[in-house]
Amino acid sequence: MKRLLAGIIVIGLLLGAVWYARGPIALAITDRALDKAMRDDAVAKLPDGLHAFVCGSGSPLPDKDRNGPCTAVIAGGRIFLVDAGEGAAESFARAGIPAGRIEGVFLTHFHSDHLDGLSAVALQRWVGKAATTPLTLTGPPGVERIAAGLNELYAIDNGYRTAHHGAPVAPPSGGGFAARAFAFPDGQDSLVVLNDGGLKVTVFKVDHGPADPAVGYRFDYKGRSLVVSGDSSAAPNLVANSKGADLLIHDALQPALVRRMAAAANEAGLKNRAKILEDIINYHASPEEVARQGKEAGVKAVLLTHIVPPMPLRGLEVPFLGEARKTFGGPLWIARDRDLISLPAGSTKIDRRRLGR
Ligand SMILES: [Zn+2]
Ligand SMILES: [Zn+2]
Repeated sequence: MKRLLAGIIVIGLLLGAVWYARGPIALAITDRALDKAMRDDAVAKLPDGLHAFVCGSGSPLPDKDRNGPCTAVIAGGRIFLVDAGEGAAESFARAGIPAGRIEGVFLTHFHSDHLDGLSAVALQRWVGKAATTPLTLTGPPGVERIAAGLNELYAIDNGYRTAHHGAPVAPPSGGGFAARAFAFPDGQDSLVVLNDGGLKVTVFKVDHGPADPAVGYRFDYKGRSLVVSGDSSAAPNLVANSKGADLLIHDALQPALVRRMAAAANEAGLKNRAKILEDIINYHASPEEVARQGKEAGVKAVLLTHIVPPMPLRGLEVPFLGEARKTFGGPLWIARDRDLISLPAGSTKIDRRRLGR
């Protein structure tokens, strides 16, 4: 009994000492984590090939598990974003990918959820590498207005940054955005917008009316390929431009679940919310439609993103997918933020893992 009592006293004293020293312990842990974070470059560790990093798998609907729509495509160490929804910069920091390495952004359309994170990305890139040129926004006509508006919104802030940190750290020429608009020639619904260093990027029209223009992008690098749909309902042009791709990354909305949300909103007398929920059903593809299109295009794997509605319970993934996995017959995943899908060059492998915490 005495020994037990002595043991309890010793454990109590030890816990007390740890409690008393919790500040210095937390600082020591933080110093180690900071050292790692400052040196981290997850992209430098990747094999040569094509990689897709999910910087946001959500939608305009608030979702505690998902940032706004954002896909980073990494090819031979170069990083491009397709859209930059809210939280994009945070995803890069959590995954250990330096934002200073981002070379440019391809915009699919101008819905706010695809633009909300642009400014944070531009700021992190600018000061992350003392960029001397602004972040390029490549997109359909209208992208000039987006760049001009953002530049005006943050002109005062950019001035503060340079004045505070000095031009060598925040060069005035590197803040903000530069627009690079493309236009489809008459009768053409796809166009190569980048072709250098072995990387080819093809833009193609999709169907997201009344949001028009709306486009998707195909990336080809060293025999590997992936397609990012942007927001689209089922579209034959997407199938045509996805032929034989290794990976199709497509937006997905499950109508049955959204209708349940609309019914609940109606019941609660929230007519506005119910109307919006009903309106969005027909301008996104369902998981089953994505699966059918992926099969038709002969893609090797499918990653569903821009997930609507939010799924606070894991079990909801079953009704969300419906018959999609059976229809496609190959690997078909629901994207999580910070997923990395790797397509190494000189191989047929498709690897999926998650970066950071
Ligand atoms: Zn969207
Ligand atoms: Zn949209």
